Amino acid sequence: MKYVMILPDGCADEKIPALGNKTIFEAAKIPNMTEIAKQGIVGWSNNTPMSLPAGSDPATMSLLGYDPQIYYTGRAPLEATAMNVELGPKDWAVRCNLVTIENGKMISFNAAQISSEEGAALLATAQEKLGNDVISFFPGVSYRNVVRWKDLPGSPAPFSAGTRTYAPHDYIGKSIYGVHPAGAGSVELDALMAEVHKIFADHPVNKKRIADGKLPATDAWLWGQGLKPAFPTFKERFGKTGAMITAVDLLRGLAILLGWDCIHVDGATGFYTTNFKGKGEAAVAALEKYDVVCVHVEATDEAGHDGEPDTKIYSLEQIDQHIVGPLFEAVKKYGEYRILVTPDHPTPCRLKTHTHDNVPWIMAGTGLEPNGIGVYSEDAAARSEVFFPNGADMMPFFIGK
Ligand SMILES: [Zn+2]
Repeated sequence: MKYVMILPDGCADEKIPALGNKTIFEAAKIPNMTEIAKQGIVGWSNNTPMSLPAGSDPATMSLLGYDPQIYYTGRAPLEATAMNVELGPKDWAVRCNLVTIENGKMISFNAAQISSEEGAALLATAQEKLGNDVISFFPGVSYRNVVRWKDLPGSPAPFSAGTRTYAPHDYIGKSIYGVHPAGAGSVELDALMAEVHKIFADHPVNKKRIADGKLPATDAWLWGQGLKPAFPTFKERFGKTGAMITAVDLLRGLAILLGWDCIHVDGATGFYTTNFKGKGEAAVAALEKYDVVCVHVEATDEAGHDGEPDTKIYSLEQIDQHIVGPLFEAVKKYGEYRILVTPDHPTPCRLKTHTHDNVPWIMAGTGLEPNGIGVYSEDAAARSEVFFPNGADMMPFFIGK
């Protein structure tokens, strides 16, 4: 049996007045997804336990069949894994966002989608001036970077499981007063952020960005810290091989920890300008070799964070046309197959951030009888009797175990 998973990140949404009170799924033209809904099951699940931050890290863990309440240690160690940052058993990885803060307000959680080249130049300077045996800065994709805080004899890492940090995308346009780190290691994190702020202030990358009328990366926001998680592999859990196609280090790191291969696609950016067609083609080719092929697209989530319904609709339509359509067609040729489309969590355009709410999904293929709903939307899914309150229970259902 071949399995296809397509994850339009953050695509679940609210009814939007500007769209005639429709959600993104309702307003977009998605003929291929509608066909899957008609031929199969429309359902509902919750991938984000209230005890954890609403984000792609615990939510995607749920989707891949790993209960985040058991396996989740933090966002940064997943990304560090993807970036080949070596973590010892007591070393901590800390997410390092390039952000724009002005007059005490979080203007942009991604420094206006700063390029990877600019980000790498800023991180290189931070590493040169502040890096040492304990602290190292590692550049990732765009604004998503990592700091490794080593635990050394005589210099233990200062954090604990109770160390509290805050996701910068939750504070867009808001004051950052009261959202500085708290608990063990917070003084150290605050001190490091203050040093980076000074270094970035007159950095050539920022001077050029300001001259070009772009937002500068004023700060490195540290959050999402954690130790490296220990997972049983997907093969051990479900007896299947897998491949991940994504532009995002978080998903790549998760896939690596599961023992999956990651397939690189030229032009996959994580934004709505991504190479949708290239991702679809790479996934179709990967079906030949792997039992499970998973395509993750970040564009829908970014559009939610930007509060842009039109961009979100565009991104979903591109996913339908260039990824879902070709994959649905291709996977049928293998005879026995299953296909699943599901967001990880909602990112409502009105809120510009993730929520803990349920998400609608569609699934079709061998052995799955249609459940008579036939429409892919939040409202339609809420009518379904197929509901997984713990999203990690969906994978065994999908795989058929
Ligand atoms: Zn997001």
